[in-house]
Amino acid sequence: MTRMLIIGPPGSGKGTQADRISGRLGVVAISTGDIFRANVKGETPLGIEAKKYMDAGDFVPDSVTNNMVRDRLSQDDVENGFLLDGYPRTTAQVDYLDQILAEGQQELDVVLQLTADDEELVARLLGRAKETGRSDDNEAVIRHRLDLYHEQTEVVVAKYAERGILTQVDGIGGIDEVTDRVLAAIEATKAV
Ligand code: AMP
Repeated sequence: MTRMLIIGPPGSGKGTQADRISGRLGVVAISTGDIFRANVKGETPLGIEAKKYMDAGDFVPDSVTNNMVRDRLSQDDVENGFLLDGYPRTTAQVDYLDQILAEGQQELDVVLQLTADDEELVARLLGRAKETGRSDDNEAVIRHRLDLYHEQTEVVVAKYAERGILTQVDGIGGIDEVTDRVLAAIEATKAV
């Protein structure tokens, strides 16, 4: 049973690594970005609301995001643990997640941060934009998303560091290489 977060700047490969690690740990990976994108694609009311923010590289408001996460974490497949990717991104979201977990007498075991240099990330994301055509992958929006990460999400990382559950891994390198680093790092925490 593992309850884990993966945090990283846009382009750090956290979605790819989350899928791989969750498979290895036998827990479900939950990506708020993926849930939003699925709703945008399906043109649901949630997706229509979220799209305005996503296209601009802004955070979707907490009033939408928090309820969505609460709902997802109440489903049966998280009983054996979860790997949450892309949430929390603000200190208010940290408080909200604390509340959800406390209600279920649950705690986080480990928070993994993938690190990477901004210019490397911009280059990667511009490459991804060509391949996937993601609407939030153009340079101005990419830089805005990076700024938000530095301004709002690094304080989230600091909070988990204070709690002693943060593990940092260098996200630069081949996909397999980074997965190996991540698995070694989380095994070393003895939390999983
Ligand atoms: P990601 O795939 O994690 O990069 O997320 C893509 C976009 O979804 C972000 O740029 C935000 O617009 C939105 N999003 C994902 N997670 C959150 C969150 N925890 N809070 C607010 N917005 C989010």
